[in-house]
Amino acid sequence: MRIVKNGKEPAYVRELVELYRQGKLPAGRLADVDVYHDDDCAIWTGGTCNCEPEVKVRPDRRHMRRDD
Ligand SMILES: [Zn+2]
Repeated sequence: MRIVKNGKEPAYVRELVELYRQGKLPAGRLADVDVYHDDDCAIWTGGTCNCEPEVKVRPDRRHMRRDD
């Protein structure tokens, strides 16, 4: 996932920050977060996210390497 720092962060970035504040998102592990955007979200056409995506934090893969 790439976060463009243009001062207008998409809504899901704020949600990630909120997850982090709640202790649900260990620092430095943003790669383990899945963001599901709506089909009509502008992000699919190169724009900035304008939907309210579903954000899911994956289980810590360091403890479950069996399916690699
Ligand atoms: Zn979106």
